[in-house]
Amino acid sequence: MSSNSIVTADLLECVRFAVAAHGRQMRKNGDGPYIMHPIEVAIILLREGGVTSPEILKAAILHDVVEDTTTTLGQIEVVFGKHVASIVAEVTDDRTLTASERKRAQVEHIPHLSTEAKLVKFGDKISNLRSMARGVPGEWSLLQAQGYALWCREAMMPVVGLNAGLESALGVVLSGTFPFQVGTRSMLPPDASVDPKAYLERYYVHLEEQRKKKQAEKK
Ligand code: ZN
Repeated sequence: MSSNSIVTADLLECVRFAVAAHGRQMRKNGDGPYIMHPIEVAIILLREGGVTSPEILKAAILHDVVEDTTTTLGQIEVVFGKHVASIVAEVTDDRTLTASERKRAQVEHIPHLSTEAKLVKFGDKISNLRSMARGVPGEWSLLQAQGYALWCREAMMPVVGLNAGLESALGVVLSGTFPFQVGTRSMLPPDASVDPKAYLERYYVHLEEQRKKKQAEKK
């Protein structure tokens, strides 16, 4: 067997593992089964970022498995090894934090991640924004949608210079639009160019208000 076919079998094994883990999870915006997203991240890294490291591609396929399913880092380490597990650990958000706290934490942590984890985050943001260009979850306000796009841009700012292909892909999607109600809106909020940090603060506060509203509805 050539080394190429071993790598391919390994990657397919990884896809199988992620499919089993994500099960029937669907994307919140009606953009199909959840598993399409991590597969898309790996394709973006490979095709647009020129990333060929099998470890990074496997971590991309597994990047949401620990955060969104019952799979543990220990299980990933047993099947795919320490290196892949460590990249997945780096890109896994702390689920004990609220959505707005997680978003703040990512902006702080991304500059300190390993290069491998930065690349996975890069592909993750591009994939999520492309999905948003096809549709946003029904309950999202305009502030939530445009705030999300701005947050992606700000979070990836410290990674500028790492990978030209991914940078240009991010730039293209951020300069586009997404469908909202009866029309389309620009990804980035037009009024955010003056003071993006202040706009992000409004976005975080909005996420917190949404969380409290949902909590109150549950009671
Ligand atoms: Zn993801």
